Amino acid sequence: MPVPGTRDPAPQQQQHQPSPDGLSWREQSRCLTENPEIFFEGGGVTHKAKKICAGCSVRAQCLEFGLANDERFGIWGGLTRGERRALLKRRHRTDAGLQDEAAEEGDQEEPRHAG
Ligand code: SF4
Repeated sequence: MPVPGTRDPAPQQQQHQPSPDGLSWREQSRCLTENPEIFFEGGGVTHKAKKICAGCSVRAQCLEFGLANDERFGIWGGLTRGERRALLKRRHRTDAGLQDEAAEEGDQEEPRHAG
């Protein structure tokens, strides 16, 4: 079962650019030395994991990794699976809204006249 900060990188993650100090984001994760069980959802355990994630310097990278890899279990970037799914839905709605706006703006542009 994958564990944030400790799992083997997916192929695309192996190409992750090293940070200025030469460490990958996983090596900087705050959970690296924590009990992995904490990061699997359930009552007070979730609360404890979220508290650790809140102070993690690579939280954004972890969250994006979890989203990109459709991680189904555990806390990634401080979010539960349900929270990640809700975030993806919001992003899709925003993307769709922006596309609609762009299409409407394109419709409203005044025709260009030559000359
Ligand atoms: S955000 Fe949380 S789960 Fe992700 S690397 Fe940091 S401490 Fe670990």
